[in-house]
Amino acid sequence: MNRKSLLSAGNILGLFLVLVVLYLSALYNFLLFHTLAEFFSITVAFAIFIIAWNTRQIQNNRYFLFLGIAYLFVGFLDLAHTGTYKGLMVFPAAQDADTPTQLWIIARYTESLSLLIAPLFFHRKIRPFLTIALYALITGGLLWTVYADVFPVCFVEGEGLTPFKKISEYIICAILIGAFFMLQANRTRFSPHIFTLLTASIVLTIFSELAFTFYVGVYDLSNVGGHFLKFISFYLIYKALVETGLKEPYAFLFKEMADSEKKYRKLFANMLNGCAYHKVVLDDNNFPVDHLFLDVNDAFEKMLGLRKKDIIGKNVTEVFLGIENSDFDFIGEFGKVALTGETLHTEQYFAVMERWYSFSVYSPEKEYFAVVFEDITDRKQAELDRENYLEKVDSLMAELERSNQDLQQFANIVSHDLREPLRTVGSFVQLLGRRYQGKLDEKADTYINFIVDGTARMHTLLNDLLAFARLGGGQLRKEPLELGSVLNKVLMNLSDSIDKKQAEIICAEPLPSVIADETQMIQLLQNLIANALKFNGRDRPSVSISAASEDKKWVVCVKDNGIGINPKDIDRIFLIFQRLHPRGQYEGTGLGLAQCKKIVERHGGKIWVESTPGQGSSFYFSIPEPM
Ligand code: ADP
Repeated sequence: MNRKSLLSAGNILGLFLVLVVLYLSALYNFLLFHTLAEFFSITVAFAIFIIAWNTRQIQNNRYFLFLGIAYLFVGFLDLAHTGTYKGLMVFPAAQDADTPTQLWIIARYTESLSLLIAPLFFHRKIRPFLTIALYALITGGLLWTVYADVFPVCFVEGEGLTPFKKISEYIICAILIGAFFMLQANRTRFSPHIFTLLTASIVLTIFSELAFTFYVGVYDLSNVGGHFLKFISFYLIYKALVETGLKEPYAFLFKEMADSEKKYRKLFANMLNGCAYHKVVLDDNNFPVDHLFLDVNDAFEKMLGLRKKDIIGKNVTEVFLGIENSDFDFIGEFGKVALTGETLHTEQYFAVMERWYSFSVYSPEKEYFAVVFEDITDRKQAELDRENYLEKVDSLMAELERSNQDLQQFANIVSHDLREPLRTVGSFVQLLGRRYQGKLDEKADTYINFIVDGTARMHTLLNDLLAFARLGGGQLRKEPLELGSVLNKVLMNLSDSIDKKQAEIICAEPLPSVIADETQMIQLLQNLIANALKFNGRDRPSVSISAASEDKKWVVCVKDNGIGINPKDIDRIFLIFQRLHPRGQYEGTGLGLAQCKKIVERHGGKIWVESTPGQGSSFYFSIPEPM
C-alpha cells in the first residue's frame, strides 16, 4: 500500500475551519459553542452509524458494524446531554447542571466500553438487530436511572464536580487505555493507515477525558479544550471508519488476502518440492504448443540447477531444449490441465535432466497451471534394480531347473548303463575268486577280495544314485497312507540288521494317516531308521518313532541313542555325498539324507535334526495333515 498522509490538506483545512468557528462561537457565547461542538460530534456519530450500517454487507469484519451501532447510542446520549445542557434545557430535566453531566458520563462510559470490546468482533458473527436492541435496552435503563434520580449525582451547584464524576472520568480513561492496548494487540488486522487513525482517536479521547476532569464550572476553558479534542477524536473515527471504510470497503479483505498471499508465497518459496507456475501458449487452433515460465521457487532452482532470473518470461522449449521430443508429451499433457482444469499426477522420466520426477499439475485458472515435482530417481532406480534382480533370479532359477533336469538325466543314464558292465565285472571277479582261491599267491586273493568289495560298493552307489535321480522327476503317487503300516514294512526290510544289532524299536502311540507317495515314505523312514541303527555303537541300540501335530502339520521324529552329530556338521549332512566318517568306520554313500530331504520337500514339508554328540540324535520331518 502506498504511504499516504493521515489527513489530506482538505481534511485539515475543514477541521481547522470547524475549530475556528467553534472557537469564535466560544468567544461569543459558550452555550452556542457547546451546542455547536456537540452537534458536530453527534452528526459525526450518526454518520458513523449510517455508513457502517449500510456497508455491513460488504464489510468483511464486524468491528466497524459494532462500533457504528455503539456510536449511534453515544450520539443519542450526547444529544440528550446537549439538550439538557445548562441554559438550553430543550428536554425536560432538572434545572441544574447535574443531569447533562450524568448523561455525559453515561455517554462516555458507553463510548469507552464499546471501543474496548469492539476488537472482539473482528471475526465473530454479530446479530445487528439484537445488538441494537441490547444497546437500546441498556441506554434506556441508564436514562431511566437519571430521570428517576437513581444515578449518582455528578455536579453540585456552587461546589462543582462530585467525586463520583471525577473518579468516573479516571475509570473511563483507564478503560480507554485498555481499548488502546486492545487495538495494539489487533494491529495486524488493520491496514496501517486505518490503524493510526483509530489509535489517534483513542489517544485524543483520553486527553479529552483528562481535560474534563479539571473543570470546575461548566463554562470554563478546560471544558472548551475537552470539547475540541472530543470533536477531533470523533472526526478521526469518522475518517477511519466512514470515509476509509467507504472508500476502501474491501481494504480489510485485501489486507487479509495480502496476508494469506504472503503466507502462500512463503510456503511456495520454502517448499521442498520444485514448483513452477506457467501460462500455456496456444496456437491458432487453441492447441497447446509451449508453456511460458511465470514463476519458480527456490527448490526448482536448486533441483534443476537453473536461475529464476534466466527463465522467467521464457518458454519451456527454450529452457529445456528438446523437451518436445520426450517420450511423454509434457507440452500437450500439462497444457490439457491448463485448459480443462483437470489435475494430473504422473511419474515420468525427464530426459532433458536425465532424471525421474513425480509431477502434480494443477490449474488455478484457465490457461494457467502450476507444476509441483519431486525427484524420484533414486526410488525409480531401486525399483528398476529390483526388477532386474528378480528377472535375473527368475532366469537363474530356470537355468538351475534345466541343469537339474540334465543332471538327473545324466545320473539316470550313467547309473543305468554302468550297472550292466559292473554286474559283469562283479560276476566274473566272484567266479575268479571261487575258481582260483588258494591257487594263485596270497596277494592275488587279497586283490580279488578288494575288487569284489569295490564292485559291491559301486553297485550300491549306483542304486542309490539312480533312486536319488528318480526322486526329482515324475509325478508323486500320493494316496492316503497309514504311517504305521509304512513303518511295519520298513521294519520288515530292516529286520536283519535289527536282529543282528539286537536293537530295540519303540513306537508308543499309533502313527497318523497322511497323504503321500508310499514308496517314497518307505524310503524316507527306512533311511532314517537304518542310519539310527548304523551310527550307533551301543550293545543295545534303541530307536523310537513318534509323531505330534503342530500347526496343521504332522511332525514325525526318529530318535536314537547313537553317536550323535557334532553341531558344526549339522548343516551339511543333508547335502548329497556328504559323509562325516571314513568308509572303514561306517559304510554308506552319503546319499541317504539328501534323498530324505528331497522326499520331504516334495511332500511340502521340512527336515531337520537335533543332536548331542555321544548321546544320540533326533531326526524330525514334517508333512501336511490331510484336509
Ligand atoms: P550315509 O548314511 O550314506 O553316510 P547319509 O546321507 O544317510 O549318508 O548321512 C550323512 C551323514 O550324516 C552320515 O555319514 C553320518 O555321519 C551322519 N548321520 C546320519 N544319520 C545319523 C545318525 N542317526 N546319527 C549320527 N550321525 C548320522
